[in-house]
Amino acid sequence: MVTRTPPTERPPDGGRPSAPPFRALRTTSLKRKPGPPIVTVGTSLPVRADPAIRGCKLKRPPPGVDRNALGYQQRAPGRRRYLARTWAFRSPRAGHSVIARKLEAVTAEEVAMINDVIIVGGGTAGWMTATYLKASFGERISVTLVESGRVPTIGVGEATFSTITNFFDYLGLDESEWMADCHATYKLAIRFEDWNEAGRQFYHPFERLPRVDGFSLADWWQVHEKKGQFDQDSFIIAALCEARCSPRQLDGRLFAGDLSAGPSVIGRTTLMEQLTQFPYAYHFDATLLAQFLMRRGTERGVRRVVDDVVGVHRDERGWIDCVITRDGGPLRGDLYVDCTGFRSALLGSALGEPFLSFQDSLPNDRAVALRVPIDIERAGIAPYTRATAQEAGWIWTIPLYGRNGVGYVYSSEFCEPDQAERTLRRFVGPAASDLEANHIQMRVGRSRNSWVGNCVAIGLASGFVEPLESTGIFFIQHAVEQLVKNFPDNGWNETARNRYNRLVANCIDGVREFLIFHYYGSRRADTPYWRATKERDIPGTLLQRVREWRTSLPDTENIWPYFHGFEPYSYIAMLFGLGGISTRARPAVAAMDNTLAERAFADLHKEAERLCRTLPSHYEYLAARYSQPAPA
Ligand SMILES: Cc1cc2nc3c(=O)[nH]c(=O)nc-3n(C[C@H](O)[C@H](O)[C@H](O)COP(=O)(O)OP(=O)(O)OC[C@H]3O[C@@H](n4cnc5c(N)ncnc54)[C@H](O)[C@@H]3O)c2cc1C
Repeated sequence: MVTRTPPTERPPDGGRPSAPPFRALRTTSLKRKPGPPIVTVGTSLPVRADPAIRGCKLKRPPPGVDRNALGYQQRAPGRRRYLARTWAFRSPRAGHSVIARKLEAVTAEEVAMINDVIIVGGGTAGWMTATYLKASFGERISVTLVESGRVPTIGVGEATFSTITNFFDYLGLDESEWMADCHATYKLAIRFEDWNEAGRQFYHPFERLPRVDGFSLADWWQVHEKKGQFDQDSFIIAALCEARCSPRQLDGRLFAGDLSAGPSVIGRTTLMEQLTQFPYAYHFDATLLAQFLMRRGTERGVRRVVDDVVGVHRDERGWIDCVITRDGGPLRGDLYVDCTGFRSALLGSALGEPFLSFQDSLPNDRAVALRVPIDIERAGIAPYTRATAQEAGWIWTIPLYGRNGVGYVYSSEFCEPDQAERTLRRFVGPAASDLEANHIQMRVGRSRNSWVGNCVAIGLASGFVEPLESTGIFFIQHAVEQLVKNFPDNGWNETARNRYNRLVANCIDGVREFLIFHYYGSRRADTPYWRATKERDIPGTLLQRVREWRTSLPDTENIWPYFHGFEPYSYIAMLFGLGGISTRARPAVAAMDNTLAERAFADLHKEAERLCRTLPSHYEYLAARYSQPAPA
């Protein structure tokens, strides 16, 4: 709301117009409540308004007045219409003294949404953002995506997090529409190999733990010292992974029935509303997904420009006025989304927003990747990602329909790139011999703020915390969901921007803490790299939490307190699996009757056995579904 300022109030410099600090602001009249006359204002740019004010200059508002007011704008369909809101100055050339005036009122309908979004970057982040914005706002905003024909995308990012199902739902996309095109497979878990000790593996599944008599099954498992491994005793998914089952029956039904978020959610769900017992995810070819989303986005009205952004013009506030493309010249919008990957061409390079490195606590800064063709008919398809610990990092194996994505993530402090490539090739075996390796330098950390002025960075341009736990695409999804929730109108509400920055930072920082725990909590300390994981500084809050987990297993009260995707069951799976932190059972559970808990364990085993007998193999299901030969 705009308050009224007496028409006689003079600007603080005594009333002389000065150089226009805000460029490209033109105005026409406003709809308004009765009150003092509105002054229409022009700038030094050509103005089609009242000739009396042509040449009039705008001044910076006096202290206390919202600076953004001068950026107030609204666009009527098909043309631009800028609305002056607060401080206006009459033209001295027209014989008026210069006065400042506040408009009396701006009615709600005059506060207009941002209309033009320019996205720079056509990787997973760019196209996920473009399609999500279109799914949210349809024709009410125009989205232009400019992507370089010369700068390649990162080309990795193939394992996802369980919230991804929600992204496709939001776009109204059924699995049958996109999975085959992207050579996608299901992901039910991550299998951690050699993180505890050589030859030992465990699963971190997408499966919430049941509760018995008010305690998590993990509490019961601990107190009655089950003979087996925690994951095998307590998660159905672990058995499905071992048997390489599909999560769907051949007729398409999911093994656990309806996995939707439940009756309290109407329409599309948000990430935080996903509360099924068995969330699941996908593996897919990231390049093919970006292409799929590009087709989808352009069909839905996203304007695609293939060009390089070679410069950025900023206005007097330091906000982006336009981006300059090599062939097409300036591209002007209201909101700019930086999806340029690790370059962070807009937020980092042009606006100079500082980047907070996580190198001290998460030292893996390089990766080398291979795309390994697989005879899936013979080898089958695992429904999980593998993370195999190595001397100076770990190797991912991501099973796609027809090939595996395999990559070694390591710290350059402990391993040279050629040594890493040799290790990776040895791990893959003969199938790696003719393949070209992709070496990648990683920028691990986050921007201090991911939204500055009218520029929001999403994807690698905003932040990244190494691929362990596959959270890169999850960050994109979370960011774009929050962007929609906090989408600006032309008042550019600073509170919404701050809220967005807080949520994004909390999410990335939470994942950072969880990942640090993967190394700190691991029993391995057999190489300089692994020894260092125990010796380097650990955030105090994490140390405090670990202390608590020794006697009270992770729950909603004692893990990272903000939304970051991971829930207590994930922490428990890692705590028991990694094996480096000893824990004690709760005395209360030890003193309780365990009949129900025993029944729960027995039922879980019976159900796992039944499912393993009745579900098709992952390969069998996908082959039938795609009904096409495996892509070469
Ligand atoms: C080693 C590694 C493994 C990973 N594994 C996973 C994983 O398993 N799961 C997961 O969720 N995430 C993973 N990620 C993260 C994931 O790859 C990214 O989050 C995701 O691909 C998004 O990348 P992006 O679109 O931000 O950047 P990019 O893919 O780098 O795309 C950048 C885009 O910007 C364009 N561009 C750059 N500069 C300009 C310019 N000046 N003008 C115009 N266009 C420009 C480029 O052409 C390109 O289109 C991994 C990342 C790394 C580094």
